[in-house]
Amino acid sequence: MKKLTVLGSTGSIGTQSLTVAKKLGWGISALAAGGKNINLLEAQAREWKPELLAVMNESAAAELKLRLKDTSVKVCGGAEAVNEAAAMDTDIVLNAIVGIAGLKPTLTAIDAGHNIALANKETLVTGGDLVMSAAAKKGVKILPVDSEHSAIFQSLMGVPDGNPYKILLTASGGPFFGKTRDELKNITPADALKHPNWAMGQKITIDSATLMNKGLEVIEAVHLFGVSPKNIEVLVHRQSILHSAIELEDGAVIGQLGTPDMAIPIQFALTYPNRMPSVAPKLSLTDVHTLTFEKPDTDTFLCLATCIDAINKGGLYPTAANGANEMAVELFLKEKISFLQIGEFVARATEQAVNLKSFTLDDVFEADRLAREAVLSYL
Ligand code: NAD
Ligand code: MG
Repeated sequence: MKKLTVLGSTGSIGTQSLTVAKKLGWGISALAAGGKNINLLEAQAREWKPELLAVMNESAAAELKLRLKDTSVKVCGGAEAVNEAAAMDTDIVLNAIVGIAGLKPTLTAIDAGHNIALANKETLVTGGDLVMSAAAKKGVKILPVDSEHSAIFQSLMGVPDGNPYKILLTASGGPFFGKTRDELKNITPADALKHPNWAMGQKITIDSATLMNKGLEVIEAVHLFGVSPKNIEVLVHRQSILHSAIELEDGAVIGQLGTPDMAIPIQFALTYPNRMPSVAPKLSLTDVHTLTFEKPDTDTFLCLATCIDAINKGGLYPTAANGANEMAVELFLKEKISFLQIGEFVARATEQAVNLKSFTLDDVFEADRLAREAVLSYL
């Protein structure tokens, strides 16, 4: 039986990964999560009997240790425990942690020689150069779970290495596509948490509403596929049916379509290069009827413009954009700043990033800290 480790097992992607694992008949080596949802973690541990349950929050870990006394599951707490889970013997590590908190576990899993099914895009946005070179050195695969990147990855299968291509990165546009800045002034967290096509964790749902998510995905694509940012075009595609495409030199466009269901990209990252029956519903193109494509509005949605600028500058600018955004989203969800201030603060904090051409992991965490501090100073 194949086995999988899921980091971030209680989240939107984490729980869907377990559904996929069940469909595939796979087992679980280790589970890791933050620890806010103790009941779900207990249920997951009882169902899947992982060798290790790693819980970031120490008091949640202590509580789970008590609750799981009658089982063989080893429970450990803290960041080191999450890294221990990432390193444990397994067939593949699926990283569905949210935010830069996923970076060290990714590097730890690579160091242990594991292939990675990567949902945690912030890993590549903040530490892309370090992660991709560590993966190449170890000869491990980074298999994208993000639906757009999975679509690009699938579209590239069969294209010989070295053939130039352009990426057509699709975006749903989120709940506020077509709105003006004036109309977005009084958006509340509840408004922004309603996504038209996907049910996801809170942070990525806000990122989809600001288009930060698409900015992070441009940066993610640059690292995963080694393309220049100028060869990535973002297209707003409201139906979320074409998950992204590539355009080749002869004008041929190859894309991947499907229902907007993360079970498809999650499963393909696990079964690559093979295909298996999935829990996702099949696509009916006659039901969808119409597919539309439009240009994004980067004057209204500042986050997207900031991310493109950051990856063009390179260095630690993308790390700063990500750190500023993580802080700004947290403040917006607590109703400390407005919806439009997210984009304004991300732009300002990215601007002030230190320009380093080569950097270490410590520099990445320092750039993240400085960007968060900058955002707090704007309050
Ligand atoms: P979520 O908020 O629903 O879940 C996050 C998970 O990470 C939870 O299990 C939480 O306990 C865990 N976690 C948080 N901090 C942790 C830490 N320090 N150590 C260990 N675990 C920790 O988020 P999500 O929507 O599932 O998204 C996860 C990642 O996948 C994000 O990077 C997101 O951008 C990406 N992604 C999500 C979707 C989606 O449909 N939800 C699609 C594409 C990519
Ligand atoms: Mg995506």
